[in-house]
Amino acid sequence: MKLHVGLPNLPNNDVLYRALDDILASHRLTNNGPYVRKLEAAITETLGVKHAVAVCNATIGLQIVAKALGLTGEVIMPAWTFVATAHAMEWIGLKPIFCDVSASHSIMPSRIERLVNDNTSAILGVHLWGNPCLCRTLEFIARLHEVKLFFDAAHAFGCSYTGRRVGNFGDAEVFSLHATKCINSFEGGIITTNDDELADACRRMRNFGFVNFDDVQSFGTNGKMSEIHAAMGLAMLDQFSQVVDANKANFVLYVEYLESLPGIYILKPNAHEDHNYQYVVVEVDQAAAGVSRDAILAYLHENNVIARRYFYPGIHRLPMYVPSRALPMTERLAERVLVLPTGPSVSGNDIERVCSLIKEALCK
Ligand SMILES: *Cc1c(COP(=O)(O)O)cnc(C)c1O
Repeated sequence: MKLHVGLPNLPNNDVLYRALDDILASHRLTNNGPYVRKLEAAITETLGVKHAVAVCNATIGLQIVAKALGLTGEVIMPAWTFVATAHAMEWIGLKPIFCDVSASHSIMPSRIERLVNDNTSAILGVHLWGNPCLCRTLEFIARLHEVKLFFDAAHAFGCSYTGRRVGNFGDAEVFSLHATKCINSFEGGIITTNDDELADACRRMRNFGFVNFDDVQSFGTNGKMSEIHAAMGLAMLDQFSQVVDANKANFVLYVEYLESLPGIYILKPNAHEDHNYQYVVVEVDQAAAGVSRDAILAYLHENNVIARRYFYPGIHRLPMYVPSRALPMTERLAERVLVLPTGPSVSGNDIERVCSLIKEALCK
């Protein structure tokens, strides 16, 4: 059996089948139906945020937020993230300006200061691996320079910062409910905000600018979530705490097995905050480990453990982007990071096997 990173978490099948019967019987398949509204209400409650707007995926969600905020020109963001963060902005004519990250993998506030100019309209932070950005500092910088602040929260459902759930920071945040994320709706996304006007604009823009049946008040796109997607999201939300418990138990096992290995460092979330433990991220220090990250990765793949080196080589190094200045920490992380399998379908024995393979790779 192959062990994969990002194997989708599944709901209780009967819950989903019942919802599908109900949706078909109702003839209401999409267009802000009852399942979408129920999902939005449940997420609002879980995150303690005023508005949740369900969308077809997080990429479109980020674009809807950018349009609703009226962004123009440049958006400052990390290059150490999934390519969607930058592509989403580029695709609607905004220019990503890449900023380096700190050793905690999130955008470095002090570097942002050097990149802000008259063309800057926003800062886009990413809570990578569910580890929140320095949100309060970013809010301060955004206010100081009078630019907007929003977050790619694709990884951060259920995580908190300074005791406050992610979803409540900046002007808006966008979660992904893609199949590989800890809560999924097959495909999907959620925009959250505490700003009433911004929430209205996002609702309007996800539905072609419609306000009522036939009143088009602005430009817009098709960013709607369908009913069956929302039903899947609701079914997964029911299981969220079990998913987190399983992830957490796996994480503790990984720490136990890996902590004594030379040159292998596991990225630990802040234990005082809520976290979904959705990703097990290790950094390989080649000098101390005596072997490269890529050699460990190859050995794991040979042995049916499909670990991943995510985000290599950094978005700023992708050929379709204008070559940017060097981003030393981004490049360092791109060379070192290895993501290991976890989730409710991964057992303690699986984890022992993965860690034994890593140990063998170090001794080769
Ligand atoms: C998954 C992901 C996205 C894209 O989400 P979709 O819902 O697939 O559009 C964006 N940013 C990050 C960091 C992601 O991991």
